[in-house]
This record gives sequence, C-alpha cells and structure tokens, in this order.
Amino acid sequence: MRIDVLTIFPEVVSGFATASVVGRGIETGLLEVNVHDLRAATTDKHRTVDGPPFGGGAGMVMRPEPIFDTVAAVQPPRPLLYLSPTGRPFDQGWAADLAELDGFTLLCGRYEGIDQRVRDQLVDAELSVGDYVLAGGEVAAAVVIEAVARLVPGVLGNESSATDESFSDGLLEYPHYTRPAEYLGHEVPAVLRSGNHAAIERWRRAKALERTLAQRPDLIEDRGGLSAEDQALLDELNAG
Ligand code: SAM
Repeated sequence: MRIDVLTIFPEVVSGFATASVVGRGIETGLLEVNVHDLRAATTDKHRTVDGPPFGGGAGMVMRPEPIFDTVAAVQPPRPLLYLSPTGRPFDQGWAADLAELDGFTLLCGRYEGIDQRVRDQLVDAELSVGDYVLAGGEVAAAVVIEAVARLVPGVLGNESSATDESFSDGLLEYPHYTRPAEYLGHEVPAVLRSGNHAAIERWRRAKALERTLAQRPDLIEDRGGLSAEDQALLDELNAG
C-alpha cells in the first residue's frame, strides 16, 4: 500500500512513520509512506505557502499553487483526503475500507485551512479525526496512517488482534488481565483462570456489552438495542 502525505511539516509525519507498527510495515515492504513537502513547490525566496483571506478576517489561508503543483508533479494515489474538522468523522469502518486500497493520499492543512479551490478541484473527500480543532493535519494524518496500517494484512504480527477488538463487531472490547493473578489485593476474575473456554467467551461477551452500554450507548442503539441473548448474558454476569 502506498500512502502519500502532503504537508508543510514533513519531518513530523516522517518521524512518526518510522516508528512502531507503521515503521515495521515499511521495513517489511508492505507499506510505502511518501511525504511531500509543499514548500518544495514554492518559487519565492521565502517559500510562501499562505496568504491573507479574501474578504478579511483573522488568520492565513494556504495558497492553492503549491498544492496543485505538488499533486501535478507527484501524481499521488487517489482518493485524496483532506484532513479537516469539517470532514466526515473517521472511524474503524473507514479505516478498514482504506486498508483494502492500493493507496491513498492525505493532505494536511495549517493556518485557517486551505483555499476552497483545492477542495473543489483536487480533494475527493474530507476526513475529521474528531470534533475538536488541531493546529494542523499532521497529527490527524498520523492517526489515519496508524489505524489503516495495522489493518493491512501482515503488518501486525498477530492477525487475530485486529479482528477481535473494539468496533470490530460494533462493541467495545472486554477487559484484559495479565500476571500477577493477584495485585495489591485485587484479583483477576476467577473465570479467566478456570480454563473453561466457553465460560470465558460468555464472560468476555457480557463484559463487552456492559462496557459498551456504560461508555458508548450509541453503539448499542446502532445495533437496534440489546438482543434477548445479549440481555440474558448480562443477567447471567450480574447474577454471577
Ligand atoms: N479554520 C478551520 C475550521 O474552523 O474548520 C480549522 C483549521 S485548523 C486550525 C488547521 C488544520 O488542522 C486544518 O486545515 C486541518 O488540516 C487540521 N485539522 C484541525 N482539526 C482537525 C480535525 N479534527 N481533523 C482533521 N484535521 C484537522
């Protein structure tokens, strides 16, 4: 998979891309992350990428020419996604869709954002990493790259860890425990040490339902509420 990133802070994205899961994906040849410095496409001695907004107002706007010129020169893979708080919220489903592609491109804004003509002429979709405003798209690009990279087959060491986790079946993940079995007087639930795999599965499913109901009731609503089977599992957990 080829991921291109257009930014005025290439070192931020490149630094991130060499670490951990993404770095391993690149090392093993499963991923290619190409970071393009938009300032390289400027022609003036100050390497200007921004200008004041027509119509007045605070802040600066990213000029269209460096972005158009970079896209023309490097022909980055499509879709070209503009990272923006005005975009569609990014989620696990979108990450999974991107992981099926041969490549895509992320455009990072700065200042007040980019000239609207870039959005109209070059951008295929706008992607938001949440309802808050960052200073630039680089951290958002890192979020997207990591979420997608770990879904590309072979990038994670343990394939099952990407399929059995939060959001993979519309629920949050169940709690995990490791050694020691007792710590500061707090014990690991006995069922997890019972060796009874069916009971462990039921407990995990009930805990996932319980956690999702508490933290993200909207996800339960999206599933059409609790099924009779889910309710029975929760009752069993509460009785136990
Ligand atoms: N003036 C813009 C607005 O109100 O929608 C915000 C611009 S923000 C200060 C600068 C850049 O950070 C944006 O162009 C975008 O690339 C990035 N950014 C900020 N918040 C983001 C978010 N929630 N998701 C994705 N990118 C974001």
